[in-house]
Amino acid sequence: TRVNNPYEGAKVYVNPEWSQKAAAEPGGSRIANQPTGVWLDRTAAIAGVNGGMGLRDHLDEALEQKGSGELAIQLVIYNLPGRDCAALASNGELGPTEIDKYKTQYIDPIAAILADPKYAGLRIVTTVEIDSLPNLVTNTTPRATATPNCDVMKANGNYQKGVGYALNKLGDVGNVYNYIDAGHHGWLGWDDNFGASADLFKVAATTEGATVNDVHGFIVNTANYSALKEQNFTINDTVNGTSVRQSKWVDWNRYTDEQSYAQAMRDKLVSIGFDTNLGMLIDTSRNGWGGTQRPTGPGATTSVDTYVDGGRYDRRIHLGNWCNQSGAGLGERPRANPATGIDAYVWMKPPGESDGASEEIANDEGKGFDRMCDPTYTGNPRNNNNLSGALPNAPLSGHWFSAQFQQLMQNAYPPL
Ligand code: BGC
Repeated sequence: TRVNNPYEGAKVYVNPEWSQKAAAEPGGSRIANQPTGVWLDRTAAIAGVNGGMGLRDHLDEALEQKGSGELAIQLVIYNLPGRDCAALASNGELGPTEIDKYKTQYIDPIAAILADPKYAGLRIVTTVEIDSLPNLVTNTTPRATATPNCDVMKANGNYQKGVGYALNKLGDVGNVYNYIDAGHHGWLGWDDNFGASADLFKVAATTEGATVNDVHGFIVNTANYSALKEQNFTINDTVNGTSVRQSKWVDWNRYTDEQSYAQAMRDKLVSIGFDTNLGMLIDTSRNGWGGTQRPTGPGATTSVDTYVDGGRYDRRIHLGNWCNQSGAGLGERPRANPATGIDAYVWMKPPGESDGASEEIANDEGKGFDRMCDPTYTGNPRNNNNLSGALPNAPLSGHWFSAQFQQLMQNAYPPL
């Protein structure tokens, strides 16, 4: 009895806790009523952390906001064993082997709450385990980008098992819509990553009792900064006979932006056995790249590099940069059915919540210090040894970062 697109004809849940922080910022009331994702980023988040709202509180509030119409609430399932294996900023509470705790102390209680008949009228969107499976493809031996922790997670299979278990248990609830994380074009858009990732998503979706029918769709660009649509160049352009794919920025990628990537990944997934009605979500919370620096036309045709660099909206130093990117802006406002194959543009990452601390900060959340969040860091193989492009003075991941929130509003595109 699931509808084809849970966002169609539905309001989307506004998280009162995020909304309050946004509204307290100068100018923040312009976006404080936008829907954002509710991150269940540790076991304690189910009951509520530090007196904050727990899962039932959010669902009860969602019933209020729903009234007599339809409402979708967006949850982020984010607590895998050995979480965030290629980085440190969002390492979590569960060690690499703690798959049983993940199942019994995290997924089972969430599934039990979601199955409460009281909530049967809600459309519950679950985005499952951001940044997990793609790491097993791109950041493992023998790649130069491999990390020891990703090798461990690949060897023990606990990412696939955790994702499969989550899809199966949550998928048993008739009004839950599971979307698996599918990275973004600047991560999986290369030929050696694209098909291999799709295949791995299929493996996870057919593990631990899950089937492809437990998967409603996929989400791309979660908490990332890749532009929605680059309009000043296409992947088929050439400059003086040289393909833009040979520019430093594109670097042989097949895609230049998220919308083309999401649509192509959707086709690929359907071709390997996922549902023909698969729907994609694109996180547009921070990929607007507006403001005074936004190019107004194509770059000079001196070379592919001047052409691409002069025209691209995404102004990161390197596509592999992911932490609190300087110059970013809010992207498209959340809405349903924006394009073929796309269920919705969403703000899954709540704007203003940090991606990671720019220096070491002691904490009891399992969060490490990742130098990709340090503006003075000169990089590693995963960003081709470039500067991190991160804003300074950032708090721990998930914590409120006022300066970032202000810059996101200032560089919003479409403008506020
Ligand atoms: C953090 C989470 C947080 C989420 C949303 C992640 O990077 O690790 O703790 O809930 O971002 O801001």
